[in-house]
Amino acid sequence: MPMTTERVLKQALQRNFGPAFDPAAVPEEARFIFEHPQLIAEEALAAAQVSGTASRRAPYRLLAGLYDSPRVNAGTLDLDPATSVVAISSRLPPALLHAVAVVTDQADAVTLMPRRDKAGRLVVGGPRRALTARRSGGPGLEVARTLAALQRSGDLKLAMLVYDLAIRFVVMHECMHIVMGHTGYVRRELGLSVLMEMGASRRNVLTTELSLALEFIADRHAVRGVAQWARSGRLGDNVESIPRDPSLSQSDFLHRALILALMTLLRLFPARASLSAAAGGSHPHPYARMRWLARELSEDLDGHAEVVRLILEPMAYWNASFERNFVSPGRWSAAMAEDQRVAADVPPVTDQSYVLITGHAKLWQTLLWSQYSPLFPGDGRDESGWGEPDRGRQA
Ligand SMILES: [Zn+2]
Repeated sequence: MPMTTERVLKQALQRNFGPAFDPAAVPEEARFIFEHPQLIAEEALAAAQVSGTASRRAPYRLLAGLYDSPRVNAGTLDLDPATSVVAISSRLPPALLHAVAVVTDQADAVTLMPRRDKAGRLVVGGPRRALTARRSGGPGLEVARTLAALQRSGDLKLAMLVYDLAIRFVVMHECMHIVMGHTGYVRRELGLSVLMEMGASRRNVLTTELSLALEFIADRHAVRGVAQWARSGRLGDNVESIPRDPSLSQSDFLHRALILALMTLLRLFPARASLSAAAGGSHPHPYARMRWLARELSEDLDGHAEVVRLILEPMAYWNASFERNFVSPGRWSAAMAEDQRVAADVPPVTDQSYVLITGHAKLWQTLLWSQYSPLFPGDGRDESGWGEPDRGRQA
């Protein structure tokens, strides 16, 4: 008897991510920290429809859930017929929230820069603080402890903002692999009925270049989407009530919060020592990712002075602070030195690689999106019938 889709799905989830993690089982005050990423994914994918078939008006099946994976990560799974899953490790919310709490404690809360002295120099001192906590009591209790500490220190609202932006970026990155047709493409190329996107399987079908380009495409759309979402004012009263320096508009403040969120998140991923050592892997070095994200964010800012004030300066200071004041799984010092070790008239290594990666992205982006992704109402294909054999839709 053939296995039902439900059964295939359950087995694939168990095999690739581990047993399901139920947010209802954690202390009530910590629950929303786990439910939040799930809700972000569900909201992002709610409008997706099955593409390229007579039944294309049918909703595409997209599921988002938490799993007991020992690693701080997230992934996507794609399977026939027309189903995708965004999976988030139950380790990610507690690890990220803890790191955010440690970093915001070291920040000048009204400018979102690291603490500096009157001359503008970075304050360095005391023992370095670890971004990661020793695990004890399970993810739910860890989150409850961090929340209680944030409540005591008065940093809760700011930490919630930074946590929201960081986890939103993670979830949107995974959603973008689905929305941009990456998972659909790789699964069909492999001839599989079930694909584990983040797994080793894609190394058999993707060149390193294409693999890196897919990560970049997902990053690019995720980061610009998150920035746009934040600027749209949907964070509402929460942001209004966080005190900020008078020189910063709300949108300025949100840009700095996003930079801090991304840098904290990317420091949590273990990294190869050097840029060149990471070049052969499926993912770019986190430092290179951060530099590329900054370039993408710069596209939506008004002029170089704004880019410096809201992106480059915070990045430079936070990079220095992460090196001196914190201990993190990701060590970037060698990669940062390597990046700048170029002749005076040559751009940094990551700027050179940005030109290459945007070239690869340009080649692949539209092709994969137009042929392998679920359909979203209003995404342009619905009206033009591009790639759609079924034009007989009702008005
Ligand atoms: Zn990815």
